[in-house]
Amino acid sequence: MPEHSRNVLLHNANTLRLPCEAAALLPFDSTETLQTALKWVREEGLEPLVLGEGSNVVLPGKLERAVLRCCDTSITTLGQDRAAVILRVGAGRNWHSLVESCLDAGHYGLENLALIPGTVGAAPVQNIGAYGVELASFVECVHGVHLDSRQAETLSADACEFAYRDSIFKGELRDRFVTTHVDLRLLLQPNVERSYPALSQRLEHNVGDATPRAVFEAVVALRRERLPDPTREPNAGSFFKNPILPRAQVAKMRDAFPGLPVYPVDDATEKVSAAWLIDYCGFKGAERGPVRVSANHALVLINDGGAQQALLSLADEITETVKARFGCELEIEPRVYC
Ligand code: FAD
Ligand code: NAP
Repeated sequence: MPEHSRNVLLHNANTLRLPCEAAALLPFDSTETLQTALKWVREEGLEPLVLGEGSNVVLPGKLERAVLRCCDTSITTLGQDRAAVILRVGAGRNWHSLVESCLDAGHYGLENLALIPGTVGAAPVQNIGAYGVELASFVECVHGVHLDSRQAETLSADACEFAYRDSIFKGELRDRFVTTHVDLRLLLQPNVERSYPALSQRLEHNVGDATPRAVFEAVVALRRERLPDPTREPNAGSFFKNPILPRAQVAKMRDAFPGLPVYPVDDATEKVSAAWLIDYCGFKGAERGPVRVSANHALVLINDGGAQQALLSLADEITETVKARFGCELEIEPRVYC
């Protein structure tokens, strides 16, 4: 019988600090221990659910599922040529600690993704991104176990169908695949990405020379200044995705609302600032009982002691108001479980 605990409280295991009791919790540290855990979960008649650090989930009071959690934090070098190194990283590794280790080892590329909460195993799920960089640029492949067959599988980067804050793990493989390792290809020579406006301004202002370490430090400083700290103001980062809309629809919105920030995506679509839409509707700083919208960041919902329903009611109020005023749908970014 695998190591497991029953009726586990997850209040301290999600960054929104939502009260939640799960039917069971099972750690795993390899493909084999995961398969053993999955066999037990099936015999118990439970549905499995893998969680990392709970920084992108909205949990219910009662979660009638067995929570799996990866404890493998290893980093292994698989190979190296003159330009790049391939690393295999355990899904349980804290993302920011990986970014720091890579920088110390002279393995470059992840600097802009510093201080994103969560684990390596969850990073491919929404193709984490920040300051002009996305995880997808560095993924060689993702290893894990398919929950239908309980067999080990490897998905190439193409098979992961990475897109803006999206991947196959949010689509066809949603809740069907548990990642055990991610293989990353990182650069041995620095090639910094500093075009994101807030980042380039910070680098010009404070540093001048844009080394990977300078980018890392600038990103860490920007995030500490701008984003509510979940340990003091429980949150799940951006609660809504920036909508990506057909150019014709964006042009109409801009005619009506000339201040609307818009960013190019491709020939057919543009990305609209969800924060601006929410702020325009007057929600910044709005309080609804135990939940509120951050006064500093309109995309961040903060939980001061409420449960799932209070948070989702506020999210509904925001999406309905934005829809009525701008005719555009906001999509919730974290994964909501019932
Ligand atoms: P969890 O919240 O535990 O899980 C999220 C989803 O991934 C769930 O559906 C879960 O089932 C699935 N999952 C977890 N582990 C695995 C696994 N091993 N195999 C398969 N599926 C798995 N995101 C960004 O993209 N950019 C940012 O800049 C950013 N900033 C943030 C700032 C704050 C303050 C917070 C709180 C969140 C932020 N996020 C950001 C969102 C979050 O950090 C990421 O989505 C992160 O990857 C979630 O990791 P986690 O381990 O906490 O996943
Ligand atoms: P910001 O710099 O104030 O920008 C606000 C929004 O405008 C961001 O959502 C960003 O889109 C978009 N944007 C700004 N300049 C852009 C450009 N040149 N090209 C394309 N899009 C541009 O953002 P912030 O809130 O302080 O966050 C900084 C970065 O961290 C962003 O990349 C953001 O996505 C990321 N972040 C993500 C989360 C999360 O939970 N997902 C939480 C906090 C921060 P993008 O979001 O597409 O970058």
